[in-house]
Amino acid sequence: MKRIAIIIMLAFAVLSNCKKGSKDYVSTRIKPGVWHIEDTVDKTVHDSMYLVEGGKTAALIDTGMGKGDLAGYVKSLTKLPVIVLISHGHRDHTGQASQFPVIYFPMDDAFFKPPFELTAAKELSDGQKIDLGGRILEVIAVPGHTPGSVVFLDGQTRMLFSGDAIGSSYVWMHIKGALPLQSYLNSVRKLESRKSDFDFIYGGHFYQSAYKPLTSSYVTDMRIVIEKVLNGEIAGIPYNIGDPGGLSATYASATVIYNPKLLYGEARSDH
Ligand SMILES: [Zn+2]
Repeated sequence: MKRIAIIIMLAFAVLSNCKKGSKDYVSTRIKPGVWHIEDTVDKTVHDSMYLVEGGKTAALIDTGMGKGDLAGYVKSLTKLPVIVLISHGHRDHTGQASQFPVIYFPMDDAFFKPPFELTAAKELSDGQKIDLGGRILEVIAVPGHTPGSVVFLDGQTRMLFSGDAIGSSYVWMHIKGALPLQSYLNSVRKLESRKSDFDFIYGGHFYQSAYKPLTSSYVTDMRIVIEKVLNGEIAGIPYNIGDPGGLSATYASATVIYNPKLLYGEARSDH
């Protein structure tokens, strides 16, 4: 009997780690209290969300672009009240946020006009600490992909949730609203100075890294590839997705797509 009980317990443990799907979403528990959730609305986008449970509150990092009942789906994963943390203003990260009562948003991205009431949203800013009850998410501003891009550091599990600011396996810096590459280099250098605080990076399009987290050395690779582009050591090759005119440059694990006409300066590009 004891053996049967152990087998049942093991089966339950395996099942609770399994993918959980619905018509609109699929999720995987990647650590105790942490889920990766993906919209299935558009197979070409694969936008990622992360649900992180603290002792009192759960945070949903980004809200995809689907049209399903995301709040209902999240309720099937956690019993805790849920707050939404938005990594940046692009529509594939803000799509279903209005289903939740509490939204934190980096206001430097307000010009993207996210689909919720901005005046009711709370600001996200560099150095802010979001206390989920025994689990703290630190906000680190990494402007570049957008002016307001932030990442969230879970110091307890040494995980970094990065939106599109850095990682999955490439970063789009050639699209409308992105900052000059030099500005992004400053952000990556700042993040690199925090490298000892995290082991793994979970990006905003997790499929890009084949659903495997990147390591913190990716940040160093990204800093190096940008430096090599700016000092002329690497000439990018044409990249034809997103806005026109992008060039792709790679060093080790990191790839950046950049606009050769927008290399230097601190100013915002075009908004
Ligand atoms: Zn984006």
